[in-house]
Amino acid sequence: MKGKIVVISGPSGCGKGTVIAKLLDRDSSLKLSVSMTTREPRPNEASGREYYFVSREEFEKRIAAGDLLEYTVYNENYYGTPKTELSKAQEQGTDILLDIEIEGAENVRKSAPDNLITIFLAPPSFEELRRRLTLRGTEDPEVIERRLARAEKELAEKDKYDYVVINDDLESTVDELYYIIKNK
Ligand code: 5GP
Repeated sequence: MKGKIVVISGPSGCGKGTVIAKLLDRDSSLKLSVSMTTREPRPNEASGREYYFVSREEFEKRIAAGDLLEYTVYNENYYGTPKTELSKAQEQGTDILLDIEIEGAENVRKSAPDNLITIFLAPPSFEELRRRLTLRGTEDPEVIERRLARAEKELAEKDKYDYVVINDDLESTVDELYYIIKNK
């Protein structure tokens, strides 16, 4: 049995990280694809767990070598999915979650795997998004504004996804996503 590839996108601050952590806790057979990025690690992040944190030079080497399934530039940093993340999961027949933004999702869609499910996680409102990003306190005000501008663009693309789930209540959002992943 081939595992499913589950793309989950959603604007910065929509609670995607928390929802994904809960999904992984619920079912140990679900795996998360660990992306590569040139962004600085946040204080609670470790290389190889949240991301593989690499230099710009290293990232560009990986692009040239064709090691990435897709990549994008987001707020002046590279982010990409190493092909090995998917091949590992496919070999083991496990479902794999890709936490990637809209351009990455579009590129995965273009490669048209038949076992792909795409889910867009939306915040209850734009104001709620601003509130959550500010409360998180991990970004400077200028970065928050850039992330909000990007969020607006991302929200306009949500209908390209197979499912749109509104994250208004954490537990029911996790239930809904789990149901989609397991049954669709
Ligand atoms: P953050 O800096 O908040 O961890 O992530 C910023 C954005 O980059 C999020 O929307 C996240 O989904 C996206 N992202 C993370 N990894 C990848 C990746 O490998 N490819 C693409 N296209 N986007 C990614």
